[in-house]
Amino acid sequence: MTIYPQPGIMDISLYQGGAGHIEGVSDVVKLSSNENPLGPSPRASDALRQAAGMLHLYPSTTHDDLRTAIGNVHEMDPEQIICGVGSDEIISFLCYAFAGPGDEVLYTEHGFAMYRISALAAGATPVVAPETDRTADVDAILDACTSATRLVFIANPNNPTGTMISEEDIERLADNLPDEVLLVLDGAYAEYVEGYDGGKSIIDARENVFMTRTFSKIYGLGGLRVGWGYGPQNIIDVLNRIRGPFNLSSPALVAAEAAMRDQAYIARCRSENLRLRAMMSEEFARIGIVCDPSFANFLLPRFDSEEMAEGCDAYLKTRGVIVRKVGGYGLPHCLRVTIGDELGCKRAIRGIEAYLAGKRSLPA
Ligand SMILES: *Cc1c(COP(=O)(O)O)cnc(C)c1O
Repeated sequence: MTIYPQPGIMDISLYQGGAGHIEGVSDVVKLSSNENPLGPSPRASDALRQAAGMLHLYPSTTHDDLRTAIGNVHEMDPEQIICGVGSDEIISFLCYAFAGPGDEVLYTEHGFAMYRISALAAGATPVVAPETDRTADVDAILDACTSATRLVFIANPNNPTGTMISEEDIERLADNLPDEVLLVLDGAYAEYVEGYDGGKSIIDARENVFMTRTFSKIYGLGGLRVGWGYGPQNIIDVLNRIRGPFNLSSPALVAAEAAMRDQAYIARCRSENLRLRAMMSEEFARIGIVCDPSFANFLLPRFDSEEMAEGCDAYLKTRGVIVRKVGGYGLPHCLRVTIGDELGCKRAIRGIEAYLAGKRSLPA
């Protein structure tokens, strides 16, 4: 064989998505992909149905209407916004545009899988900075920077840990990074944090910070694949050069715009998540399972061992409850459990409680 891919490509392990089906079980609750159990705003679904009559027309190449809606809601200049096929595409634009062979892309120990995948796809070298107590550590990130570092990715809150760092910490990081490094704040879960602007004010005061956002989580539109980025104009101008002219379909554009304009719906989803996350956290405490406080729409219960986490995952499947194993994130003794609707949350807790009861009643 003399046909070889570019260096780095064969180092990519395929992304493992959350499972959605269990062989032989029909009544399944999927708590494995951090989806919004309430689905999208009904206005988004209406807009999507209407768009079905216009499928012969090419979509907008500039995404003006969606960028304007995002700008209105977040008080951002639409010129400083770029839309992509999920925030995954924005992450990949950033890597292709700013990192190549010989460059380093930095992220943290339990950081999101796409940073490594996109860095390798661009031919760059992924570098991992240690975390402290499953939380990004600004000093460790600064220590891990070299003259080759070009991008630093931090999800805030992070997936799969649910932890986040303060605005002061982000500012300290941004202000102490080497001049050639762009800090990317991945705000996939920013909407779940009451009063958090995703880093907008930090971005507006600097030239080296960028944010990515998504319609896949609180907006409930993971199936449509829409994300966006916001940052300094010169960075946006670079990314637009590698963005495909028709990267987003017209149904995706109009549904995302309608979803963005329905902030009352998003506020309800946020408060429902807060309520059920608090309930789940209390239940985990009650059954003797430790969890870090989460700022997102999932919790990360920690078990005594990898074997316990694996056993619990397998047992939950028999009860139709699908959660996420996170061994690939360096957390083999944990499971990530999305905050579902009330019934889904209760099924997960009851299942984990039953598993533990079975384990603890066995002689050691
Ligand atoms: C889910 C998630 C994304 C979103 O990906 P999309 O491509 O927008 O669906 C991005 N970053 C993190 C940390 C996530 O958990």
